[in-house]
Formats: sequence, C-alpha cells, structure tokens
Amino acid sequence: MTDRPDTARPDALRRETIAAHANGQHDAATGGVVGAWQPSTTFVRDAAYRTPASGDVYRRPHSPTTREAEAVIAALEGAEDAALFASGLAAMAALMRAAGGPRVAVQRGSYYGTQVLGERLADGAPITFDGASLESLAETVATRRPALVIIETPSNPFLDVIDIAEAARIAHAAGALLAVDSTTATPIHTRPLEHGADIVVHSATKALNGHSDVLAGALVPGHGGRVLFDAALDTRAKEGCVLSPFDAWLLTRGMRTVALRVREASRNALHLAQWLAAHPKVTTVRYPGLPTHPGHAVAAAQMDGGFGGLLSFDVAGGADAALGLAGRLRLIARATSLGGVETLIEHRHSIEPAATDMPPGLLRLAVGIEAVEDLVADLDQALAEVP
Ligand SMILES: *Cc1c(COP(=O)(O)O)cnc(C)c1O
Repeated sequence: MTDRPDTARPDALRRETIAAHANGQHDAATGGVVGAWQPSTTFVRDAAYRTPASGDVYRRPHSPTTREAEAVIAALEGAEDAALFASGLAAMAALMRAAGGPRVAVQRGSYYGTQVLGERLADGAPITFDGASLESLAETVATRRPALVIIETPSNPFLDVIDIAEAARIAHAAGALLAVDSTTATPIHTRPLEHGADIVVHSATKALNGHSDVLAGALVPGHGGRVLFDAALDTRAKEGCVLSPFDAWLLTRGMRTVALRVREASRNALHLAQWLAAHPKVTTVRYPGLPTHPGHAVAAAQMDGGFGGLLSFDVAGGADAALGLAGRLRLIARATSLGGVETLIEHRHSIEPAATDMPPGLLRLAVGIEAVEDLVADLDQALAEVP
C-alpha cells in the first residue's frame, strides 16, 4: 500500500516537483522511497469476506500500481483523476465509444490512428474538420452536431496549432464537449483543462514515459468530462483494455524526469527547426516555435516554456530524396514514435495509405535530448547529398 496523495490542491506544488517526487509516493509497507510494483491479479478477502481496505478485488478494474501512475498524471494536469489504458489508442477508443462513436468529430491531419478510429466508429459518415481552422470547426459542429470534438495541438505530424479556449467555446456553444489529445504538448507545456477542455487524452507511450519502452494511454477529466470519463472507465473494467502494472511502474519511473526531458527536447527542437529553416535543401519546416508558423502566436500563448519535441520538414525531390536523406543518417534512428530520449526520424508517406495525401517529401523528426550539435552534424552530412 502506498499513500494516496492529495490531488485536491494540485497547484500546491509545481510540475517539476510533482514529477520528481512521483507526487509524493513512498512504499508505506517498507519505507521504500520508490513505490512497489504489485503484480497480483487478485486480492484476499478476510474471514468475514470483506475486501482489503483498498477495496481491490481483481486486477482488471483494480491495480494499486496503476493508480500510483494515474495520480502522478492527474497532478501534472491539475486534475482530480486520471485513468490509464493499455495504449493511447485504447484510451481514445474508450473515449470515442463513451461519446457514442458516430457522434465524434475528429480533426483532419491529426494522429493517423485517431482518424482511423473515428472512421471505424462512424458508421460510414465520419465527422471531420480542418485542424488549423476554427472556422472549419464552427461550421462542422453547427451542421453535424457532434457530442464530442477531439482536437490535437500541436498535431502529429503536421504541427497544426489550434486555440483550445476558442475550440472549447465553439464546442460548448453547440452542446458538444471538447477533448484534447495533448500527447505532443505534454502537461509540462500545456494543461488543456485550464483552457476550458473537458477531457485530456495522452499517449503516455510518448514523452510522459519518455524511454520508448512502455505502451500506455491516459484520459484525464475536467468537470465537464466526468460522465464520459466514467463511461470510459466502465469500458476498461468490462472489456479489459488495461495496462500491465509493470508498465505502470515503469511509467511512474519515467515521469520522474518528464519536466527535464521535455524542456530539453523542446530546446533541441527549436534549435533544429531554426537550423533546418535556413538550410537551402529544405523547403518547409513545420514547428510552432518558429515565428513564421501560422499558429505561433496561439502556441506561444497556450504553451508554457517550449513548443514540444516534434517537428516536420520537407525536402525537394519527393519520396526518393526524403528516403535517401533518412537512409544516410548515422545517429538519428529511422523509427516511428516520438517523445523518447533518442531522436527518431519517420517518413510518414511510406506508412500511410495514399488517401491521406501525406506529402512525399515530408520527414518527421521526434527530437530527443542529445547534444544538439551531434544532431545538427548528422542532419548536415545527410542533407549535403540531397540532389
Ligand atoms: C502515438 C499517438 C497516439 C496513440 O498512442 P499509442 O500509445 O501508440 O496507442 C495518439 N495520439 C498521438 C498524438 C500520438 O502521437
């Protein structure tokens, strides 16, 4: 058993402190500074057939180790609660189904898996809007009347930025709730609930864990999102999309350094974005930290202390030039995912079907925490040979 921290006053401590202390958790049974990993699938009742004081019965609905990681995420988001799922998409699917699948509006150009889920649950008539446009969102909610709007800012891989407070106003005026996939921003840079969102979604696989060794997803409710959250929790308990406690334990460990990692990755990403923008072989750089990015002012206002570790850039010469560049990299690994300590590059055009219109020359860089000079040197030698 570990202490359940007080999340009623989440602003009492700053995010760096909450993360470093895993929200004040110790192992009460042994005095261990670090919480214990509790793998039991089932929990003993006493002679009068009462459950333990924790109320835990069976691991599908009840995992003490998972609750500890959830408490850290809740505190980081300034929320009262959080729920972890087996992956980011498991969390997203539980949320969409809680809202009634066909009644969910999904942002075009957002994370590909989210768009696919939206289509699958939509009975053939998905509700979508343009990710960079509040006008498109307003028109969509007025005509299609969704129950839930899901935005992603900055979006993956286009780095579209959308004003959370304005999106919430538009959704609420039409009787819809607003969910924000905040995977790329992380609670270190943005707390969407403070901007009026009703529920936050994370792929904790990414920067929250930060070490490319855990698959996990989270939902974090504000007051407006409570009913959806409870329905998603019911899905988790009844349908079993649960996180393993060992992964929850690793996640808590990973999150101890999330503030340091995210800030450093954001600093590296800004440096690389500026360097790439000045390179003659690069045609476009998408990064909200650049003053030339159309969402820069909104990002600067709603992101705190950085613009995240994700950026995309385009090289002239299409898929061949982009794949050739990626192939020449010696340090930066060619792999999907983002938010890890190591920098990864991804050619989305090779991954997504043609229907998504992914630009063939686009390369997505998931920036890590290396010395930025080493990243520049690697990109420099690979770009030099772009025809
Ligand atoms: C990776 C990702 C997801 C999906 O998360 P998984 O943990 O891979 O299931 C959802 N949204 C965004 C923005 C992501 O980057």
